[in-house]
Amino acid sequence: MSELNLILLGPPGAGKGTQAAVLTEDLGLPHIATGDILRAAREAGTELGLLAKKYMDAGELVPDSVVIGVILERLGDDDARDGFLLDGFPRTIEQADALASELEAGGRRLTAVLLIDAPDEMVVKRISGRRICRKEGHVYHVEFDPPNNPDRCDIDGSELDQRPDDAEATVRNRLSVYHEQTEPLIAYYEERGLLRRFDGTSTPTEVHDHIRATLATLRLEEQL
Ligand SMILES: [Zn+2]
Repeated sequence: MSELNLILLGPPGAGKGTQAAVLTEDLGLPHIATGDILRAAREAGTELGLLAKKYMDAGELVPDSVVIGVILERLGDDDARDGFLLDGFPRTIEQADALASELEAGGRRLTAVLLIDAPDEMVVKRISGRRICRKEGHVYHVEFDPPNNPDRCDIDGSELDQRPDDAEATVRNRLSVYHEQTEPLIAYYEERGLLRRFDGTSTPTEVHDHIRATLATLRLEEQL
């Protein structure tokens, strides 16, 4: 069987995380998310990991060259031999170029870039409406999954909070960074014939079914 080398692309709140979890289980591919990988490299104490640690401990953004190095190193691990699911990387054209040349040097190539898209207003509504219970972290949504009593968890009665990351201003800021830095990747991968689009406004099950069908078609095409 050929490798299944996938990238998940899309704005925050479009459902990438949900799809990543199902796809990882479905396909048995390692889910490679930038934040997790940096933490893992730091804990493993690799040379690049220790470098990343210096920046993270100082509360600074880890520079592109270090992020790229850590991710590319991870793609060489045994469990990524049959494929991988990259999530949150590449985030810029520069990172995409680095990934392309590294894969090419290793005789590998991308299978597809899965874009899960959703309009800004929907993303803002989804994320800024989230409420988390203080005690156990149970998750609610003021509009889509409201608790019986406002601001109280149905299960343990503890107070519900909005995470600072979920505040509307923060979400809008993340969206503008996405539009500026990451959205150009859509055209980049479209030009290379790798982009596949999915509608993040559909239900997670619908999105997943659509992705499965798309991957099945890609595999058939490869065998021809
Ligand atoms: Zn709770």
